[in-house]
Amino acid sequence: MPTEAGLQPLTGLPGVGPALRETLARLGMTVLQDLWFHLPLRYEDRTRLVPIADLREGDPAQVEGVVDAVQRGFRGRPQLRVALSDGSQETLVLRFFHFRGAQADQLKPGARLRCYGEVRRGQNGLEMVHPQYQRLADDAPAAVEETLTPVYPTTEGLGQRRLGSLIQHALQRLPDDAALELIPASLRAGLDLASLREALLFVHRPPPDANVAQLLAGVHPAQQRLAFEELLSHHLSLKQLRNAVRRQAAPPLAGDGSLRRRLLAALPYALTAAQRRVGAEIAADLCSSEPMLRLVQGDVGSGKTVVAALAALSAVEAGHQAALMAPTELLAEQHLRTLRGWLEPLGIDVVWLAGKVQGRARKSALDAVAAGAGVVVGTHALMQEGVAFRQLGLAIIDEQHRFGVHQRLALRDKGREGERVPHQLVLTATPIPRTLAMTAYADLDVSIIDELPPGRTPVTTVVVANARRADVIARIRAACLQGHQAYWVCTLIEETELLEAQAAEVTHVELSAALPELKVGLVHGRLKPKEKTALMDAFKAGEIAVLVATTVIEVGVDVPNASLMVIENAERLGLAQLHQLRGRVGRGHVASNCVLLYQPPLSQLARARLEVMRETSDGFRIAEKDLELRGPGEMLGTRQTGRLEFRVADIRRDAALLPDVQRIGEALLTGHAGLADRIVARWIGASARYAGA
Ligand code: ADP
Ligand code: MG
Repeated sequence: MPTEAGLQPLTGLPGVGPALRETLARLGMTVLQDLWFHLPLRYEDRTRLVPIADLREGDPAQVEGVVDAVQRGFRGRPQLRVALSDGSQETLVLRFFHFRGAQADQLKPGARLRCYGEVRRGQNGLEMVHPQYQRLADDAPAAVEETLTPVYPTTEGLGQRRLGSLIQHALQRLPDDAALELIPASLRAGLDLASLREALLFVHRPPPDANVAQLLAGVHPAQQRLAFEELLSHHLSLKQLRNAVRRQAAPPLAGDGSLRRRLLAALPYALTAAQRRVGAEIAADLCSSEPMLRLVQGDVGSGKTVVAALAALSAVEAGHQAALMAPTELLAEQHLRTLRGWLEPLGIDVVWLAGKVQGRARKSALDAVAAGAGVVVGTHALMQEGVAFRQLGLAIIDEQHRFGVHQRLALRDKGREGERVPHQLVLTATPIPRTLAMTAYADLDVSIIDELPPGRTPVTTVVVANARRADVIARIRAACLQGHQAYWVCTLIEETELLEAQAAEVTHVELSAALPELKVGLVHGRLKPKEKTALMDAFKAGEIAVLVATTVIEVGVDVPNASLMVIENAERLGLAQLHQLRGRVGRGHVASNCVLLYQPPLSQLARARLEVMRETSDGFRIAEKDLELRGPGEMLGTRQTGRLEFRVADIRRDAALLPDVQRIGEALLTGHAGLADRIVARWIGASARYAGA
């Protein structure tokens, strides 16, 4: 069979030598189809010129005009200000902070420029910062573009123009649909899918009469055709991963239930119906020799830990080990103590393994793990070299969204013995809307704990401007003098742990001075684990009334007597994080309160987020809202997981496609495995990052 057209190398394209080939390879492009499917990120409308007087703040626009005046100045840093006018009354300022001498020389009074950029409001009217511009010949009229200009994701050393023209050349070799289409006609029947060839040509070079609004919104039929296949490719690749795991064998863990019964009898409460249901689902999976891949989703405080402990006991009953991995040391330690409290009375060794366990302690932990200690708790240190289990039967991972799919696989590989792999249980408090879960976690079965333990009192949330800080402090005093406890959470987004610790220290000093009658503690990520533990213990024991903390307490911390939480700079946090933090209160029987302190002015998005927090404490509602406000990539922590990085699809916008994607995905995997592979290779790359599953 001749090589498929799309798999031909790029060498045949004009101007593609070794250097360019290397640059393209860095973008993951080595064969023709990689260029065909390198889709525009967005479009720029350079089909018309907007008179300066008609410019609107916030909109991108193309303008043409003559330079009136040029000013070089320093206001903290060098800058170049160019006044441009087009005879429409108004002037536009072009502002450059980085410029070369030659550039400044080009921008002389009288020069005619065409610019493209986003319009914003400056000190003296409208301006564009670092617009793209080109100098026009003084007299000849210059044509505008006939079609929308695609903007591609690219990398250093490869400009838009060069990449765009390469793609156009590659498109000349685009075969007809018969050769390009990988979804069999029998499966396409009934779906309203546009021609793939037409769709590719359209998105790379939209015709002049294209529906611009549709195109900019990503809902043009051509884009939807591509989005469909992209969603399909992701779905297929996750399913393939799952099937590969399914073909492996795991040890069946059908214990006699004796240890589980003893734990349940010792608990001061009965399990909720949801916990029992999910527990039974897990126990059924564990009996099988097919590896379990199950995600347990449960809102903050729904009681996932005890469900995980019961699963671990199934493993121990069957003579195997269980490992529990948490994303932060604080959370892992909390699990360690909870599990020791539950399991040691049953005669089970719980071993601690974190990065900071060094020297002899580490050696003895590793020895215990190798000798077959029942349960091992730790951070990602569990996956490091030198950690060898005697017989790992179950790997439990808490707070999945903090780990990537790779880390999950790595822990599983720790327990691999020949063809045998451990069962896997993933716990997450990130409530993922159902449609999204089916695509994002197509490789996992999902169980949902959709019920909170009884006796929780809802948290009342208020949103308060920073100017009323003194009132908030007075409120803390009143609550604590009644015997309650409070968290004060300091947040800095995208700053270092060091800066965050410093901010917390400042607040600690402030609150200590303002509340002399109360004991105020401070916990942050830069404390030694021992110090952290001591502080958390003192807070738990009620010896500390107010705990100033960074977001290290975001996950897992559990102090039922704490009934008040203040979150500083709440406007900077995302909904998921606010929800996690707030979940630290409302765990006891007293009515709890959460104060979201913000620094005005609020952006529209921040205002919307705080409003959601005030309105509801239902994690699923919050997740839906989050998705609505932000889109899915961030929500699932794309940057960490490498999942859900779509080129054209948008899982929320295109949610209506998902049922068909799932249906066709199943049909392809059962009847057309070869086509499924080619679809995955086309979108996700032959070197699929899920390889080796
Ligand atoms: P999360 O799902 O957020 O991990 P945890 O497992 O930390 O929740 O449980 C939160 C709190 O609820 C803990 O103090 C735990 O002991 C308690 N808890 C769990 N299950 C129940 C139950 N069925 N009834 C009462 N309290 C429970
Ligand atoms: Mg938890």
